[in-house]
Amino acid sequence: MPGPQQALDSLHLLVRMLRAMEAGKPVTIAALARTLAVPADAIGAVPAMREAADAGINRTASGELLLARAFDKLDLQAVAQALPPAARSTFDIHVVDVTASTNADLMAAAARLPSGRVLVAELQTAGRGRRGRAWHAPLGGSLAFSLLWKFAGGAASLSGLSLAVGLAVARALDRCGAVGVMLKWPNDLLVRRDAGWAKLGGILIEIAGPSSGPVHAVIGIGLNLRLGSGAALIDQRAADLELLGLVVSRNHLLALVLEDLALVLRSFAADGLAPFVAQWNLRHAFAGQRVAMSAEGAMLIEGVALGVDPDGALLLETPNGPRRVTSGELSLRAAPMLRRCQEP
Ligand code: ATP
Repeated sequence: MPGPQQALDSLHLLVRMLRAMEAGKPVTIAALARTLAVPADAIGAVPAMREAADAGINRTASGELLLARAFDKLDLQAVAQALPPAARSTFDIHVVDVTASTNADLMAAAARLPSGRVLVAELQTAGRGRRGRAWHAPLGGSLAFSLLWKFAGGAASLSGLSLAVGLAVARALDRCGAVGVMLKWPNDLLVRRDAGWAKLGGILIEIAGPSSGPVHAVIGIGLNLRLGSGAALIDQRAADLELLGLVVSRNHLLALVLEDLALVLRSFAADGLAPFVAQWNLRHAFAGQRVAMSAEGAMLIEGVALGVDPDGALLLETPNGPRRVTSGELSLRAAPMLRRCQEP
């Protein structure tokens, strides 16, 4: 078993190999070792890794390495070219090959970084969802990045931020050609799959600063382009753009998402969620449906989901009357079928 540092080194090497290999063209381990100036042994160990198989690296019968499909590599220049000039000057985009979590990296450095810093990773080894849950992002098959945005208005004014961000990402996906992208309160992007909803992407927002006064938000976004065998690691129904018949480069998708984020975040900083409430409610996946809100597996509230209000709260009609749900720490699911009333 390789140690943690060795495993990390192998992941870095894997990304370098993917950048160097050409799809459909077998290459010997020795040749690749020469190109990358690393020992052949190190290259030879990589194909056994799950991440290498997910990315399409196979060994041929004669021991050469073959990349089954082109690696959609992140490329700063391609992102910059796809961004309109106004958005280009808003963002300072950095690409890393491997990191634990782009959100964690930006949170750690937020105080000394400018608003608009973007960190996008080829691979996150400890991608996070809410409450420390894992976010899986298969190498080359996912867009995972974080954006630092500074707000003057204090943490209390950011309660609806994840909803505004969800809307921006959904709009970008529309422009990419995705049909039927809907939103789940407070932070998921869903599409229909097999008569149910499946998660296409997620948003994790972390905020540091006082409840009034300047604060910074780190906005983490994960979007599935091609989950492949990585889908097996996810413990709920997931979807990817490939399932929607879309093949899009990650650079192009990143540019589209950033362009919409720039517009939405500026408007949100000035006017909050109010201008977006109607549009959010039009994309509300559970509008008019019975839902159950739970925490730590315990069901807390059941009711009919009506929509969101300008503070980002979810409005529910419950048997005890209307209810506003503000805690983003709750998980929302379609409620189980109603039990039939007992016949007298
Ligand atoms: P819930 O989905 O229960 O409402 P949540 O919105 O808080 O919770 P997140 O924290 O946003 O969920 O995301 C983490 C969860 O998402 C994981 O526990 C897993 O179930 C699921 N997940 C992880 N990676 C992916 C992925 N690439 N695509 C879709 N779903 C994923």
